[in-house]
Amino acid sequence: MTTALITHPDALTHVTPPGHPERVARIEAVNEALTAPEFTFLIREAAPLADASQALNGHPQGYIDKLRAAVPVSGEVALDPDTWLSPGSWQAALRGLGGCLRAVDMVLGGEARNAFVAMRPPGHHAEARRAMGFCLLSNAAIAAKYALDHHGLARVAVMDFDVHHGNGTQDILWDEPRALFVSTHQMPLYPGTGAPDERGAHDNILNVPLPPHSDGARFRAEVERQVLPRLDGFAPDLLIVSAGFDAHRADPLAQLDLGAEDFAWVTERLCDIADAHCGGRVVSTLEGGYDLDALAASVAAHVKVLMERGA
Ligand SMILES: [Zn+2]
Repeated sequence: MTTALITHPDALTHVTPPGHPERVARIEAVNEALTAPEFTFLIREAAPLADASQALNGHPQGYIDKLRAAVPVSGEVALDPDTWLSPGSWQAALRGLGGCLRAVDMVLGGEARNAFVAMRPPGHHAEARRAMGFCLLSNAAIAAKYALDHHGLARVAVMDFDVHHGNGTQDILWDEPRALFVSTHQMPLYPGTGAPDERGAHDNILNVPLPPHSDGARFRAEVERQVLPRLDGFAPDLLIVSAGFDAHRADPLAQLDLGAEDFAWVTERLCDIADAHCGGRVVSTLEGGYDLDALAASVAAHVKVLMERGA
């Protein structure tokens, strides 16, 4: 077994206005980084198109209908000042979701030890009834529900190290006792949620806010003190990672001071948890990361660890 890389050219068809940080060039940078020789042995898989009904694991039908109806025939329309739709957005969103669900199938079916889904738009800000923060479908939360309901797992953990709080994932998993959601994020920062007292209906959420200018040492200390013991105690049957790389010191949208080596480190620690409890089964999905060079280097570091640990 090894590591699957799941992507699709439809990730390029979700177009945002000029100057928008969540842009087509992000996936181009990721794809370019993953063409290096060290990534030759990835299992490369095309993200299938999810059926819209699969999004019902996280969103009500009314939301899905409204989102699809808002997709323009030409040009771009804004759902809010951050979140845009272009003619290809619905297709891209369904490919992103399909990629995450395929990753779950591959990892749980023994086709790969772990998987990285390199798609956009990201998902972790999309709440059950509201698109926001560049996000349309809440991929990580839906993948968690899918692993629980479709594959019959008892416990699924989602760890989100994007610099922004994963409010959408939290919203959808809030009252799901079979899921643990853990998020490290800068606070204060968009979207404003993610305080430690937000703990879920079943004490199934752990928020670990970090002050601006926290560096890698501070991040690692909090992960070791809070995140790892909580994940270890939960003993997940699958670990899903919302892998945003905008906590990098070069990122223009936030003020944490992490580097690619810190993303490699946290990936190692998450693989330790997965090794201890679920045969190393990790599904990681791309969230943020808006400095192209930092994003490329950070994704490369993340996937390199997944490959080493998945071999
Ligand atoms: Zn982010």
